Amino acid sequence: MKITAVISHVLQTDMPEELGYSQQYYAKRTAHLVEIRTDEGITGWGECFGPGNVALANKGIVEKVIAPMILGRDPMDRDVIWHHVYNLLRDHGQKGMPMQALSGVDIALWDIAGKVAGLPLHKMIGGAHRDRVQVYGYGMMLKRESVADHVARFADEAAAIRDMGFVATKMKVGLGPRDDVRLCQAVRRGIGDDFDFMVDANHCYTTPDAFFVGRALEELGAYWFEEPVAPEDHDGYRELRAGLRVNISGGEAEFNRWGWRKLLESRGLDIAQPEVCALGGISEYLRVLALAHAHFTPVVNHVWGSAIAVATNIQLLAAMPPLPGGLFPREPWLEFDTTENIFRDNLLSDPLDIQGQVAAHGSVAVPDAPGIGVAPDPAFIRAYAVDG
Ligand code: CA
Repeated sequence: MKITAVISHVLQTDMPEELGYSQQYYAKRTAHLVEIRTDEGITGWGECFGPGNVALANKGIVEKVIAPMILGRDPMDRDVIWHHVYNLLRDHGQKGMPMQALSGVDIALWDIAGKVAGLPLHKMIGGAHRDRVQVYGYGMMLKRESVADHVARFADEAAAIRDMGFVATKMKVGLGPRDDVRLCQAVRRGIGDDFDFMVDANHCYTTPDAFFVGRALEELGAYWFEEPVAPEDHDGYRELRAGLRVNISGGEAEFNRWGWRKLLESRGLDIAQPEVCALGGISEYLRVLALAHAHFTPVVNHVWGSAIAVATNIQLLAAMPPLPGGLFPREPWLEFDTTENIFRDNLLSDPLDIQGQVAAHGSVAVPDAPGIGVAPDPAFIRAYAVDG
């Protein structure tokens, strides 16, 4: 069996309204799908993390740098291919965009392997520890509006997400420490006392400012405080984890086993959030998962992007052993963006309908079709594809 084509599809559309997080506002939604074709007619699908022009640049890495390295190779040799590509790219990017590009390729190769075996990804990994996965809904994005309008909107939106059936909710912060505490208080007011909420700072704080917000989160009973400081600031993470009673989470901007090794050894994370579409694909995710569990650090995958990324993560979450295990273990959650995303909801011929499943069950079923278990609609891809 041979790889005959490696194709990037960058999809882009205007969003119904501009949204923001602590670093920027954005008005376009982007998804970067990788399609790998073979001489036996089996096609695999993967996805690379990275919005906007990052996706277009990653398309260049996939098609102009990685594709020539792997065309003609046996797609079943995915781990050999991973190391061949990584070794050749090592001098040019052990983190960042080359790893994001390799991630989409690796996921597509796993999809092919599952289709060859006739097995869903979770069976290829070793089986499902659960047949449904609980889902938390994030929203409460920043907008160009006053603090008072943010406060009122966050309280309402948090209650609405709770009422949709999600197991917990997550909010953005980023207006500044004092106003951010007001937003967190509004969310707690909105959801009441018996529902979990998490706070995502997207690394906008210094360590002292993160302590200021973190102490308020202790009082409010927030479940985790995500990316409080810059991802490079392992000392800041460690000090926050040692000094705060709220769980410190992060890791979506970390890459491969070597990056994760340093992050985990620095003991700054209560909860690890690896991004399979960025850190190096499924092959590397499985190594990072083992590394996290070797440090007794529970994992809640970071999830972003189209239905391909969501389906891949459902498979991975199904196959994740509970840590530390028990009769009633804390189960891993699927991260779900409650804002409109047509690349997730409309990409597949047979949609996952996460919102509908959550409303009915509070959780989603694990697809059992071979590979990642879903396939995109070619007409939809043609309608939204943009050129680099
Ligand atoms: Ca995040």
